[in-house]
Amino acid sequence: MENSATYAIFDLVRNLRARGTSVIDLGGGEPAFDTPRHITDEAVTALYGGFTHYTPSRGTPELLSAIAGKLEEENGVAVDPTRDIVVTPSAKHALFISLLTVLDPGDELLVLTPGWVSYGAMARLAGARPVPVALSPADGFRITRERLESRVTGRTRALLVNTPNNPTGRALSSGEAAVIAAFARDHDLFIVTDEIYEKILYDGTRHLSLAALPGCAERTLTVNGFSKAYAMTGWRLGWVSGPGRLVGEALKALQHTVGCASAFVQRGGATALLGPQDAVGRMTAEYASRRKLIIDGLNALPGIVCAPPEGTFYAFADIVGTGAADSATYAEWLLREAGVAVTPGSAFGAGGEGHVRLSFAASREDIEEALERMGSAMARWG
Ligand code: PMP
Ligand code: GLU
Repeated sequence: MENSATYAIFDLVRNLRARGTSVIDLGGGEPAFDTPRHITDEAVTALYGGFTHYTPSRGTPELLSAIAGKLEEENGVAVDPTRDIVVTPSAKHALFISLLTVLDPGDELLVLTPGWVSYGAMARLAGARPVPVALSPADGFRITRERLESRVTGRTRALLVNTPNNPTGRALSSGEAAVIAAFARDHDLFIVTDEIYEKILYDGTRHLSLAALPGCAERTLTVNGFSKAYAMTGWRLGWVSGPGRLVGEALKALQHTVGCASAFVQRGGATALLGPQDAVGRMTAEYASRRKLIIDGLNALPGIVCAPPEGTFYAFADIVGTGAADSATYAEWLLREAGVAVTPGSAFGAGGEGHVRLSFAASREDIEEALERMGSAMARWG
């Protein structure tokens, strides 16, 4: 089992800073915003009010019903909050118990690459085998039936989808969603879909929830959480929703590993979903302007090409033209020579090589400073 590349970079940046080195961190996907105040206030009130005990393992009825309302209204997915949802301490844990649910030892999980760093490791923790389906930057990482078919075997059990995608920033088109739905139906596969960036979309791009597609609901587990949309990374709160027969199995994994998400944190989550949503809009508008700043800045650097992402707060820059041997070498060089931390594309599977991921959830000042430092370091490089 390898270390998480994203957490390795978080740790490296902390250690360098503790030793007095100035580092601009565009590595991990960590919003520079604080959690909106009304959410924090409600959680603090709950804490003082004695909301400090175990909750039902599935989650508090208040939060479960808020999630069910959100799914119906925003995603077009009807669920029974007493049966079809489990609240989890983080989307990460929701993904893990979802994969434990659908995968038996020896099964294969199709993972589109470039894809987020933890999917393959989670499949291996479940005793299963992650099978990469490499997408190509040449066609904007498009998902095609041929690419999916090329990796199917008798042991293929499930397909993992992430839209909008970390690290590429691609959002599923309706054509791709239809391809995935037909593919899963024809091979009788489960779909685990990670939709944690659904609210961070640009230029009018619309989010498509796979569970809302005809024939998908009965085979799909949908994971979501509060970290990104509400700037709540340190709260550790997420959920999985889907057919009760599957979600009930995921619940057993939660009961035996964590028990339940923190009580007062769930109160914060319910406030996030039920309260005013203007902070989400404000943060996303700010990400949109930081996106322009970083994309323009990157494309002005020699040898770097970067298309604007449709969603997420990641720029996935093509660095082949810099002449660097590979993405890890380039990322190490950038940290050493410019004091800028980025994530090498290789962390996202073989399909990510030739790229580095830069998070523009960092502050505007940090992004400006990082671009300046990259420019001067690359000029020195020659
Ligand atoms: N999925 C993706 C694609 C992510 O980037 C992250 C990063 N945090 C997660 C899931 C996990 O989120 P959480 O903080 O809720 O564990
Ligand atoms: N998801 C974020 C990232 O991709 C945070 C780190 C993590 O959870 O792995 O950087």
